[in-house]
Amino acid sequence: MKELKVITNSVDETHDLGKRIAEFSKANMVFLFNGDLGAGKTTLTQGIAKGLGVKRIVTSPTFNILKIYNDGRMPLYHIDAYRLEGCHQDLGFDEFLDDDGITVIEWSEFVPSLVPDHYMIVNIRLMQDDSREFIFTAFGAQYEKLLEDIK
Ligand code: ADP
Ligand code: MG
Repeated sequence: MKELKVITNSVDETHDLGKRIAEFSKANMVFLFNGDLGAGKTTLTQGIAKGLGVKRIVTSPTFNILKIYNDGRMPLYHIDAYRLEGCHQDLGFDEFLDDDGITVIEWSEFVPSLVPDHYMIVNIRLMQDDSREFIFTAFGAQYEKLLEDIK
């Protein structure tokens, strides 16, 4: 299964979706979240964090760019590259992104060098009635399996 579409009607439902992703994810997985400001990228990341058992509150890392949450079942690496548009420097993040945890990247188009060969893209859209549409696209066999697990 290469693609999965999920609609959520509340923040709680989006958190539950994130928890499901966390439950079936393997260490080393990378998720690229695309969508406008306010679409729900950080909210879905909060759900993943909850699913991993992270106690700290996940907030938008816009001013930090990278936040690492270490108190869950495995580390969560949360990158928000929004402020890196047009920045072509090597940030050295690779050193921090170990294969022992899940990585979520918001605005990954601004950090193409961080995107590995295999990953999951999640395109998030705010619908007219305030619900959210999440379209998952798997690039790699383990991500296709993940879609089977969470559907
Ligand atoms: P982004 O990281 O994409 O900029 P955020 O997750 O920070 O977006 O913000 C999403 C906003 O939309 C939050 O204020 C949240 O409360 C609100 N919201 C309303 N309905 C939903 C929903 N179904 N899923 C996610 N967020 C929702
Ligand atoms: Mg955000």
